[in-house]
Amino acid sequence: MADSAWQKVCRDDDLVEGVSRVVKAGDDDVLLVRVEGTVRAVGNKCPHYECPLNEGALLGRVVVCKCHDARFDVTTGRMISPPALNDLPVYPVRIEDGDVMVGPVEKARFPKTEGTDPRTFLIVGAGAAGNAAAETLRREGFAGRIVMITAESDPPYDRPNLSKEFMSGKAKPEWMPLRSAKFYQNQKIEVLTNTKVTALDPRKKTVTLAAGVEMPFDKVLLATGGAPRSLPIPGADGEGCFNLRSFADARAIMEAAAAAKRVVLIGAGFIGMELASSLGERGLAVNVVAPEALPFAQLVGERVATYLRKRHEEKGVAFHLGATVRQISGSRGAKAVFLADGTRLEAGFVILGTGVLPAVGFLAAADLVKDGGVPVNERLETAAPGVYAAGDIAIVPDAIDGKGTRIEHWVVAERQGQHAARAMLGSAARYDEVPFFWTRQTGISLKHVGSTGAWDALAFRGDVEAGKFVAGYYRKGTLVAAAGVGLPTELTAVELMLRRKITLPAETLSDQGVDLLARVRG
Ligand SMILES: Cc1cc2nc3c(=O)[nH]c(=O)nc-3n(C[C@H](O)[C@H](O)[C@H](O)COP(=O)(O)OP(=O)(O)OC[C@H]3O[C@@H](n4cnc5c(N)ncnc54)[C@H](O)[C@@H]3O)c2cc1C
Repeated sequence: MADSAWQKVCRDDDLVEGVSRVVKAGDDDVLLVRVEGTVRAVGNKCPHYECPLNEGALLGRVVVCKCHDARFDVTTGRMISPPALNDLPVYPVRIEDGDVMVGPVEKARFPKTEGTDPRTFLIVGAGAAGNAAAETLRREGFAGRIVMITAESDPPYDRPNLSKEFMSGKAKPEWMPLRSAKFYQNQKIEVLTNTKVTALDPRKKTVTLAAGVEMPFDKVLLATGGAPRSLPIPGADGEGCFNLRSFADARAIMEAAAAAKRVVLIGAGFIGMELASSLGERGLAVNVVAPEALPFAQLVGERVATYLRKRHEEKGVAFHLGATVRQISGSRGAKAVFLADGTRLEAGFVILGTGVLPAVGFLAAADLVKDGGVPVNERLETAAPGVYAAGDIAIVPDAIDGKGTRIEHWVVAERQGQHAARAMLGSAARYDEVPFFWTRQTGISLKHVGSTGAWDALAFRGDVEAGKFVAGYYRKGTLVAAAGVGLPTELTAVELMLRRKITLPAETLSDQGVDLLARVRG
């Protein structure tokens, strides 16, 4: 290696253990850290959305991205936890006369699988959990056949973006696939699109496809996600009424949006409110109809919910809250939505954001469904040996209170997919992740960690109205969740406290003089 390829980037004694620093090596931003005395250098961009990792939390050898909670080992560059799918590039480091020298980049490469394995692992579903599982199987060295089956026409793509940058027009369609076709070819992951699974026989170890074909498996992961709930009112299934779950749904909505001036959104959940924001950015007049008095109040409390509502109103969204829809009439391009109180809202088109139900219809005869979902143990295996479940359909023992919980979050589904893959390969580890989700609307990103269940008291750090805060949610005096905007490392610290079951009294959470990261480091 030519010595000219090495660059002096800083002094060795500039680097303090536990404090990261960004330097330039050529055009690259490089993250420098001292871990257990040794200086390490990795790329500073998170491969997920390119957020700068130096603004995230550094916890020993792990750096946590501030944007969407991806985790990396800074000593190896390895991705520990999604939503990032790739490792970080690594730069060799040497110290010369007290100078830190950084050498030529070693690009991140997906690990190569060696050997052979006669087994076939099927993955039903090619969404967050399915894709993460397929990739993890290969990362962990599984050399057998992997078949990932999806009823949709698109191979795995960035579903959360459908209602955000893609819908507002900021993200191009070509940014949406999680991987290229070549990636799946190289990794020998067979992706069957437009292929619906209609039945599973756990004893025979087969799935049946809509075409009537039976596919045998040695192990199977069920990761079929959710299907939009319908609304039992006249006109809800008519032309010009849309749901948003798939890439195809998003393309159809964008086509309708291009020809319309007004949209009515029914439902004020996260997808509905992200759509309000994105379609508003496209210049449409947005009306939101929902039965609750204040969107998100149950989850995040009145103060945070009011902050979000105000931001939407400032951007021109008109809310019709405490309201229900009686009927939708008219054709595509000229629809009218009638509320129960007689109000008539004009719309070029209508979107129903009324939640999802787990897509478990194909399991009718398999005896694996309870309370609408698929219960699994701590390894994510169902009651049938060799059959695993992850993502929106899985009822998983909760890391905080052990109760079976079904979560509908992208990162959770990916982490469960990753965990299930390891379990399929024989790992006995228990799934102990704390739920994490983010939503992006009105130009801000709100993140939430922990339980989405009931809480009875809350405490704040920072200033909600100024958009820089962490809200802590307590149940019987114990912190069970937190939500935040603009204080990402504090939220990461709280996430770790929840995971490690470290007590965080409300007074400590509210005291800005207390460094929460230092508490989890120490
Ligand atoms: C528009 C939108 C925005 C979102 N934004 C966020 C966000 O910002 N943050 C967040 O945390 N979460 C978000 N979510 C939720 C998140 O996308 C889901 O929690 C996540 O995708 C669940 O992953 P999954 O693998 O369980 O299912 P999915 O990703 O839904 O994948 C399910 C797969 O199963 C396939 N399938 C279903 N039934 C069958 C069958 N019978 N046969 C064959 N294949 C089948 C589907 O075609 C699909 O490939 C959003 C969801 C949507 C729709």
